[in-house]
Amino acid sequence: MMRSMTWIPSGEKPLEIMKAGNSQIKYLLVEEDHKLCCPCGFYRAMSMPCEHILRILTQEGKETDILKYFSAKWHQSRRAVSASYV
Ligand SMILES: [Zn+2]
Repeated sequence: MMRSMTWIPSGEKPLEIMKAGNSQIKYLLVEEDHKLCCPCGFYRAMSMPCEHILRILTQEGKETDILKYFSAKWHQSRRAVSASYV
């Protein structure tokens, strides 16, 4: 989670963040179906939130929304892991 703190708001658009120390690297997130979508592609590829989505959620105090970004597949594997400890 600390890694996501290297991203800071660009100050130009509400959902735009830039890399701290390199304002050339920017991501403008969009909201789709009440969820954030990031152009970096990590979220779509992995079905888990990328560091940019985490950054915005943290910034907006919506950390509890993070779980919504994990696909059902991840929730299932988490249950499988906890079941294996029973
Ligand atoms: Zn991203």
